[in-house]
Amino acid sequence: MNKTQFNINQLVRQNVLGLKPYSSARDEYVSDGSKMIFLDANENPFENGVNRYPDPQQRNLKSVLAEQNGVAVQNILLGNGSDEVLDLLFRAFCEPKMDNIITLPPTYGMYKVLANINNIEEREVLLTNTFQPNVSDILDTVDRNTKLIFLCSPNNPTGNSFSEENITQILNKFDGLVIIDEAYIDFSSKKSWIEKIKTYPNLIVTQTLSKAYGLAGIRLGVCYASEEVISILNKIKPPYNVNELTQKRALKRVLDSDQVKIEVAKILEERKNLARILSQINFVEKVYHSDANFILAKVDDADKRYHQLLSMGIVIRNRSTQPLCENTLRFTVGTPEENEKLIKILKQL
Ligand SMILES: *Cc1c(COP(=O)(O)O)cnc(C)c1O
Repeated sequence: MNKTQFNINQLVRQNVLGLKPYSSARDEYVSDGSKMIFLDANENPFENGVNRYPDPQQRNLKSVLAEQNGVAVQNILLGNGSDEVLDLLFRAFCEPKMDNIITLPPTYGMYKVLANINNIEEREVLLTNTFQPNVSDILDTVDRNTKLIFLCSPNNPTGNSFSEENITQILNKFDGLVIIDEAYIDFSSKKSWIEKIKTYPNLIVTQTLSKAYGLAGIRLGVCYASEEVISILNKIKPPYNVNELTQKRALKRVLDSDQVKIEVAKILEERKNLARILSQINFVEKVYHSDANFILAKVDDADKRYHQLLSMGIVIRNRSTQPLCENTLRFTVGTPEENEKLIKILKQL
């Protein structure tokens, strides 16, 4: 398709197209910093730090993220974890019982769960043996009701990144929206696709503070896309979807990017060490290359090894039920001390 003719309004659900976003008290009056008396939102007036509603547009946090990522504030939507962001995409673009989406197993389980919740057909096109998207099969699976294709890169649970060529082909040849889930991008040597949202109006990039930023507990997901896509999502997001504590804590952390980099560098060092040692363990048959903070390994008997580790106090993820992942285990990279314990136990088994 000629992307200059791309028209997002042809992809939006009819009922969403006509919606006006709910206008909250905090939308109608935006503080300019001067001292005002707020009698507009039925809040309890006694200060305790969180008695006021949070900023529905999360302006402070977005402006830092915009600057760090070379985009405008209008290119960003924040959610209660990426899970909420992904759900908003279904609700904005997929008509229940009519539209469909494509996922590429083995991959993150939430795409399928959200498709099922929203009553959207999920079409699965397996990755190739090298865990790359099978572009021709994907394009053959697309029909006029295919709205979204989910690409997870680096992919969970395989750990690898998808090639630039494969992703570019999908972006160019698919008329719907392509979501690249970059939950693990900070652990990868590859560049983020964020800068390409200017080139591809059908590209949506999602990131999260749950992994490299160490804030899984506060729930903050980030969506980068064209202003047109973001304004559609803004129409349907709950007004106060990112709470005050989360906005404050996230802001503090993204401003402390040096500390994040230090932690990521340590995790990468540990990943390298763990991959090397795993490959020497006698029951490990293959260690897959990882661009993430976990390592997928093929073993002789995944159920047996999983339960052995569990009985020794170590919880990993058995990924054997996933296609192409028979007898695989996924190890998240822990602290040096945790990894040391894991290694000691692996060597004893
Ligand atoms: C962990 C993970 C996320 C994070 O989701 P949040 O809701 O932001 O915590 C998103 N995508 C993938 C592929 C993940 O593995």
